[in-house]
Amino acid sequence: MGHRVTLIPGDGIGPEVIDAAVRCIEATGVKISWEVVEAGEPALKRHGTPLPAEVLESIRRNGVALKGPITTPVGTGFRSVNVALRQKLDLYACVRPCKLYPGVRTRYTNVDLVVIRETTEDLYAGIEFEEGSEESRRLLEFLRSLGHQVREDSGISLKPISKFCSERIVRFAFEYARRNGRKKVTAVHKANIMKFSDGLFLSVAREVAKEYPDISFEDRIVDNMCMQLVQKPELYDVIVAPNIYGDLLSDLCAGLVGGLGMAPSCNIGQHAAVFEPTHGSAPKYAGLNRVNPTATILSGVMMLRHLGEVEAANLLERAVAKVIAEGRYVTYDLKPTPDDPTAVGTREMADAIIRELK
Ligand code: NAD
Repeated sequence: MGHRVTLIPGDGIGPEVIDAAVRCIEATGVKISWEVVEAGEPALKRHGTPLPAEVLESIRRNGVALKGPITTPVGTGFRSVNVALRQKLDLYACVRPCKLYPGVRTRYTNVDLVVIRETTEDLYAGIEFEEGSEESRRLLEFLRSLGHQVREDSGISLKPISKFCSERIVRFAFEYARRNGRKKVTAVHKANIMKFSDGLFLSVAREVAKEYPDISFEDRIVDNMCMQLVQKPELYDVIVAPNIYGDLLSDLCAGLVGGLGMAPSCNIGQHAAVFEPTHGSAPKYAGLNRVNPTATILSGVMMLRHLGEVEAANLLERAVAKVIAEGRYVTYDLKPTPDDPTAVGTREMADAIIRELK
């Protein structure tokens, strides 16, 4: 019996990188029956909503999805489908491995870390008050009654951080470290300034850490963490952070290992797991067969491991590593300069990986 997996091609460069990943996954010989559903801009046009109920139903039914990036309009328009998916399916942990493969041109030699990000609360909880609205006027009045002066022409976004979600994500990070033979967990925060939100996250993290004496624990203030990661990323192993710092740090860490084209991810909860590249829909590259499919293919590797297809996952990861190490059939971002005329397209890089598999 094969596996049944929900497939969301997404928009922008999504359909291209998803096509490359699906072909590579199928070339491992693992039998998967894909249930294709639409979300984002294409779904808005066809169904009047960017996140139709059938998308959620399909993921709930199958428990596993592979997803392409989805554009979120900036400032106006519909709210992020990615955030909504995580919240509605309670995919509370986002796991983003950042591993440097030989052949990738960066200034680093040894990076192999994993960013684990909480994804249901913090500043991305979607609790926002528009400048000038009746709601924000009432909120400002309430704040004034508590002695807080906030300018009347303010827009406000709230940052809730709970004990429950902090404990859940930190425990997830320690369990992940144990399962994957990792040695250290670093909690990231800004508890010196935000004492009641980040401070709570940090105190919960310290408590949970006591239950895992076999794994070292430390904490870093987020600004210091950014500098440390740029200067000595080899010192870090598993990083656990509330939503917003995790989001920013995972792009920073993607930069350490060759850029967004190299960074896979998984959003995971109690009942479902959605695998997707860390990068977005990069609209200016859409339809050009230009971008690097590796992040999505490596998300497929993570998915195969999650499905218990460990041998196929290892095979596919080795094939990706070989093609990158050879440096011949790779996209522009993995060449010495972006205008290198020998760069191949998304499809051709996937073809080379499939040849390697065979
Ligand atoms: P982006 O990640 O789409 O692209 C930023 C830049 O990174 C690109 O211009 C390109 O230079 C590089 N890049 C990205 N993917 C690459 C790849 N596979 N190969 C080579 N280079 C690559 O970020 P953005 O431009 O800030 O966002 C575009 C849209 O994507 C926005 O609407 C944003 O909300 C959305 N987004 C979606 C997700 C998701 O679906 N999970 C994640 C992030 C951003």
